[in-house]
Amino acid sequence: MSGPVSAATMPAPREPVVVREYASPDPLPGGAILRTLYSEVCGTDVHLHEGRLAGVPYPLIPGHVSVGRLTDIRGTIRDIEGVPFREGDVVTFLDVHETCNACYQCLVAKQSTRCPHRRVYGITYGANDGLLGGWSEAIWMKPGVKIVRMPAGLPPETFIGGGCGLMTALHAVDRADIRLGNSVAVLGVGPVGQSAIALASLSGAGEIVAIGAPADRLEFATRMGATSVLGLDVPPDERAAQIRAGTGGRGVDVVIEAAGAPEAVGQALDLVRDGGRVVICGQYTDHGPTTINPHSQINRKHVEIRGCWGSDFSHFYRAVDLAARHAHRVPWADMAARRFDLAHAGEALAAVAERRVLKAVIVPNG
Ligand SMILES: [Zn+2]
Ligand SMILES: [Zn+2]
Repeated sequence: MSGPVSAATMPAPREPVVVREYASPDPLPGGAILRTLYSEVCGTDVHLHEGRLAGVPYPLIPGHVSVGRLTDIRGTIRDIEGVPFREGDVVTFLDVHETCNACYQCLVAKQSTRCPHRRVYGITYGANDGLLGGWSEAIWMKPGVKIVRMPAGLPPETFIGGGCGLMTALHAVDRADIRLGNSVAVLGVGPVGQSAIALASLSGAGEIVAIGAPADRLEFATRMGATSVLGLDVPPDERAAQIRAGTGGRGVDVVIEAAGAPEAVGQALDLVRDGGRVVICGQYTDHGPTTINPHSQINRKHVEIRGCWGSDFSHFYRAVDLAARHAHRVPWADMAARRFDLAHAGEALAAVAERRVLKAVIVPNG
């Protein structure tokens, strides 16, 4: 590659996103360049812009889930089957990098998403670390980045429609241990909630209730696999009563909280049956405490609560495979309908922040 590279950049929290030019990146041995086809605007990018995440090295080039075309491969980079990547391959990559495989979390607890050494493209790598975000014409693939080829028949725009939310949802549905026929409630109908609904359906869930707003997102949730919907205009107590009425007075077997508001956690505990399971994957930023009654909502209910942080290569790899296998019946492609070039990245961010779009996709070389 030669010539400067344009990238949409967040100079600092709450400052307007600007397009800046950067020197063309030079790949290290074992590295490459990705010419970006699509990157996404995730809820995390809104939180980054609001300055809600600690330890973020601004200025920042956001965009942690991206698809592009490989160029400038230095040496040989192989996929997990040992097949070398070729220049021109359309690929995506795991945003999480430098998971150490040498610490307590990696080796003893075997939960690498809590490795203290992990770095994330577009989140904890700043612009001063290099072109390490997807809202850029090119992304610097550092040695060791985990790259996955787009399977034949998976349009890149379909994959980016699922994107970050699909991987997060896959991890959450893993944590939910849904059994065939289980009743499930999903709180929140943003990108994570939508994919959680689709994956719960693919997992063989029976009744799947989507709870959220606005109405067009609830309608989309039915296309993703929800069997019924409840709007936020229905008061929480009433929602819980309706769900109990539909489950023999018990509540659902599994609740996946993907809403983000702290009070959604207490609501999730009111929807689950005694001995059921609640997965919390919506609280990615700190919106403060909430009130829970430990006696009536947890202990006496004998309920299981599981947190869910980040995703690792297994979630990422399986997300790509699932998107390819089920794209014909899950409308992930329609989630990528709103596209913006680099100059309009700030507008894309505002559209997501104000919930005017379910998802915004950045097309850096558009
Ligand atoms: Zn580690
Ligand atoms: Zn994300």
